[in-house]
This record gives sequence, C-alpha cells and structure tokens, in this order.
Amino acid sequence: MAQLDMRAKLAILADAAKYDASCASSGIAKRNSKDGKGIGSTEGMGICHAYAPDGRCISLLKILLTNSCVFDCHYCINRKSSNVRRARFTPEEIVDLTLSFYKRNYIEGLFLSSGIIRSPDYTMEQIVRVAQLLREAHDFRGYIHLKTIPDADPALVHQAGLFADRISINVELPTVAGLTRLAPEKSAPRIEAAMGNVRHDLDNSTDAGKRFKSAPKFAPAGQSTQMIVGADAATDGDIITRAAGLYDRFKLRRVYYSAFSPIPDASAVLPLQRPPLMREHRLYQSDWLMRFYDYQPAEVADAADPATGMLPLDIDPKLAWALRFRDRFPVDVNRAPREALLRVPGLGVKAVDAILATRRWRRLKLADVARLTASIAKVRPFLIAEDWRPVALADRADLRPLVAPKREQLELFAA
Ligand code: SF4
Repeated sequence: MAQLDMRAKLAILADAAKYDASCASSGIAKRNSKDGKGIGSTEGMGICHAYAPDGRCISLLKILLTNSCVFDCHYCINRKSSNVRRARFTPEEIVDLTLSFYKRNYIEGLFLSSGIIRSPDYTMEQIVRVAQLLREAHDFRGYIHLKTIPDADPALVHQAGLFADRISINVELPTVAGLTRLAPEKSAPRIEAAMGNVRHDLDNSTDAGKRFKSAPKFAPAGQSTQMIVGADAATDGDIITRAAGLYDRFKLRRVYYSAFSPIPDASAVLPLQRPPLMREHRLYQSDWLMRFYDYQPAEVADAADPATGMLPLDIDPKLAWALRFRDRFPVDVNRAPREALLRVPGLGVKAVDAILATRRWRRLKLADVARLTASIAKVRPFLIAEDWRPVALADRADLRPLVAPKREQLELFAA
C-alpha cells in the first residue's frame, strides 16, 4: 500500500464510511468535563448537533480504520475484489484526529468501523485499542460508537463495550437467504450469536449497576444494527418482521435501514438501480410506529400491500393502516383511550398527550385539534370532536386521494 498522508487517508476512509447509516447518538447518558477533569462531553454548549432528515446524527467523526477487507461481500465497495484505493489508519492516528477535531468543536464523538484485515480478532483488537487509548490515555468523555466484528472473540467485543457508548453489529440483510447469496463468508447464526452475547453483557451490566454504583458500565447507549434495503428480494413486510424480532431478542436501541446504493464495478448479482429513498423513509416510519405508537409488528406489516408486501410510497404507513382498517375509526378525541388516539393519522405523541391533558378541563373542538396537527384535512375523517362528526366522509370510497399529501410539481430550472 503506497504511503498516504493523513489528509489523503481521511478522504478515503471517511468516504468509505458513508455507507454506514447506524451512527445516531441517541440514548446516551450525560457526561462532561465541566469539573476540569478529562476532556470532552456528550452534552454542553458549543457542540453542534446536526441531524439528517431521517434522524441520522452527523456530528461524529465517522471513519473506517481501514477499507481493506479479506471478505468479498457483493454489496460492499470495500470488498476484497473491489478496485478502490485502499488506506489504513493506525489506532494512534485515529486518536489524534478525534482529539484534534473535538478540540476544534467539529465533532461530538467518534463512529468507528472497519474492513477485516488479517483476522476478525486482529481487527477487533485495533478497534478496541482506539477506544482504550481515547478513554484511558486521554480521559476522553465524548461519544464513542464502535462497529464490532461478529466473528471476533466475544472477550474483545466485551472489552469494546467497556469503552464505547454504543456497540453495533450489522445483520446486513433482512433475510438469511439474502445474506447467504450476497455475503457468503458471513453467517446469520454467528451474527445473531454475537448480538446475543452483547445483550447478555448489557443485561449483566444493568444488574451489576443496580447492586454496585461503581460497577463498570457496558455500552450504556445499548446496541444497534443495520439492514441494507433493496439489495435482495426481501419485502417491506419481511424487513418489518425481522426488525421486530431483533428488537425483541436482542433489546436493540435502533435498527437502521440503509437503501442499497449501486457501487462502481458492482457484482452481477446486485440490482442495477437503487431502491427509492422514500422506501427507506417509510421503513423508518414503520419502525417508529412499533417503538413509540404501540403497534404490533404484524399490524405494521398489515399496512403493506397484501399482494406485494411493500409499504406504499405516497402515504405514510400510519395512514395506510388507517385506510385499510377503517372500522377502527372515527375515534372520539374527548373519550378515546391514548392507544386509540395514537392510531389517528396526523396525531403525533405530543399532540395526543396535549389532547389528554386538555380534555381533563374541557371538551375539545375540531379547531383545538387543528392547532395540534400539521394537516387537519388528514385528521378529520378519522376523529369525532365536540363540534365535528365525519359522517359519510370516513366511508367514502375516494378517501385516500382526499387525505394523501398533494403531489408537488418540481421546477425544471430550480437551482
Ligand atoms: S466484511 Fe464488511 S467491509 Fe468487508 S466486504 Fe463485507 S461488508 Fe465490506
């Protein structure tokens, strides 16, 4: 490998990391160095928190240790047979970069992943060394998210969790058949076994923390995973079901969905076109319904078209579900329980909580609800208020076009 300077390595290894979606820093405990000890913080003034529209945190230094890899996963630009320029950081170089970017307030933490070099254990040792140096040699208190290697020794993954805020292991593809076809060197049972070990460590850490205040914390922001969407034939229904199973079995904080993007010199087994980005967005919305709106996975899957198993792209899954199950509506805003109000399209968690708080003092009219939602036209057919009853509106055969967002004509010469 030709000698590259730091700037060239950073250009290559930050670019190579952009395919990883799982870097949001949600769920972390507050920690800082306001008392003059250590360096860094997960909170505080002057730290820029930037989020992409789909919720991804972009204020982390997100890089790979190396983009060389001994595996040959078809969907990956860093695979062994890919004709890309390779680079590799030493752990010390990553530590220097993280600290200098942190001090300049460019970032609030580090997201580190890597291709596999020599062996899974060797690579994992290098990743752990970065986190260990940051925490122990530099008393770094910023956020660290480590992507771990499923085939590495569980003791190394455990060590990683003692230094990192979040640990993640990618399941890569929604189905075992997809993984076998597109990443033949990876194994779904081994990936799930590694996720099971992390869950075990998380549970032990929680138990120990209840008994001893000084017990070491293991990945306090939990574990997450990522699935590539659109590289195999999995339907949205398959993806929702898999995600629900993973949340349940491994107590995941997040499942990230990453729309497959065609790569240069792509393998012939991959689709030629990327899936619509809106598909990724709809999956995030369906994920949100399970985590915050009390929908069961099978209910969310019911929002998909029964013939294709795909969520509609033109309307959100909550609206799609309401249109399929019209017998559950209209819901009376002045009497319905929280669970039923959460099902009304256009009413978010905050709006529902505001309705519940207000109706203790007075009955709500349609205008009151209108102040809590972006589109009363979308909400109206699904609810009853003091001065509003949808009557025939809820049963109209053409309800969908009335409540779907209007299509916007894009400007041909817009900047
Ligand atoms: S192991 Fe990871 S880095 Fe290596 S080819 Fe597969 S997906 Fe890419």
